[in-house]
Amino acid sequence: MSSVSAPRYLTRFQCLADACEDTCCAGLVVPVSDARWRILRDVVAGGPDAARVEALVVPDPGSGSGAEAAYITKREDGNCSFLDERKLCALHRKYGEVALPDACAMFPRVATRRAGRLEVTGSFGCPEVVRLCLLAEDALEQVPVDASLAARPEIARVLGGEDAWMVHSERVRAVALRILERREHPFASRLFMLGELARRLGPFYFRGTEVFREEGAEALLTQTLATFEDAETLAALHAAVSQVSLPGGPWAGICGMVLRSRVGAVGSERFSGWARAVLASYGGPQAAPDDVWARYAARRARLEPVLGERVEQYFRHHAVNHWLRHPFTDAPSVLDYVFKLALRAAVLRWVLLGHPTVVALCERDDLAATEDARAQLDAAAVECFQLSAKHLEQSSELHTLAQGLSGGAGPDSLPRMLVLLQGL
Ligand code: SF4
Repeated sequence: MSSVSAPRYLTRFQCLADACEDTCCAGLVVPVSDARWRILRDVVAGGPDAARVEALVVPDPGSGSGAEAAYITKREDGNCSFLDERKLCALHRKYGEVALPDACAMFPRVATRRAGRLEVTGSFGCPEVVRLCLLAEDALEQVPVDASLAARPEIARVLGGEDAWMVHSERVRAVALRILERREHPFASRLFMLGELARRLGPFYFRGTEVFREEGAEALLTQTLATFEDAETLAALHAAVSQVSLPGGPWAGICGMVLRSRVGAVGSERFSGWARAVLASYGGPQAAPDDVWARYAARRARLEPVLGERVEQYFRHHAVNHWLRHPFTDAPSVLDYVFKLALRAAVLRWVLLGHPTVVALCERDDLAATEDARAQLDAAAVECFQLSAKHLEQSSELHTLAQGLSGGAGPDSLPRMLVLLQGL
């Protein structure tokens, strides 16, 4: 039997159901595959819910292959039509897990099969996943688990292929994950190291590469990866990036642009209220980037010496989970993937320091690393990371902006990435 692994935090996961601050299906389209549609019709057949299922699960007009044949309609408030007044799924409550579409049965778990192994990770769209992943020191230790943790392991995404891009992806990812764990260097330096690794891989290791047909490419890959395991090389990269000092206004301008682009586009009151509060804390949506930067820098200078280690843990855990959850091989190049990760980290850092709770912490004369201060910071971080994951990080606006900023992940991308590292 193949092995199954997951980060430790997932073994601690329990859905909060009606006690959850969010609802997983709020604002999202729930697709239903042909097979699950048939099962659902069978389990409700002849009962009081047959007509509701007929009316509320409707064919997907865009479905050609039939893989996602239908979707569940939404109520006016954006929630799933089957969500009851206690915020519980009526189908699950009455008929059990078997009645659920795959997306609902799996969420917040994500299952991926690589090289014969099954990996289960968690989605930051779920606040309980974010809490468990960000806050526990040992959250990301990989542990063996039972396949049942994946809920429906049979629908795991299969990553594979004979081409060099896929064949070597495990080694590349392993080196990237080790760089992220190099806590002797600041988080921004580690992102820069990832960027430099990606830059050096760029000419020969990318999606669709044919270079590995030629002799020497594999040896070059091995050599490049080994360089980034070398402590001296990494220390030199840290020293180099530490010399760089750019004005912070453009950084603040980019972060604000990402958030502003989503206010009004997202139909979630929870998100809108949070986003407006963050923008207000920086002087409102029209504030000049240099003024926004000044506020941000003052808060960072206040928080960093007292609770900086805690903040570092959030960002390290978020980045590691991102590498586990989102295969870099979906991107056209490693640099494209790393650039977007840096943009996500920048926006997250900026919204965290604009959260009203964090602003209030920074304004306290007696700010100290007490249990209370840490708990307040933790709660703000969970809210920021979850709302960003659900409404910012995968948005087309963020992807378009990243594309424009990076210049298409060409050779200039790394210098451009330095702008994103300014505020970290
Ligand atoms: S978001 Fe997570 S904790 Fe909340 S209801 Fe959904 S699965 Fe449960």
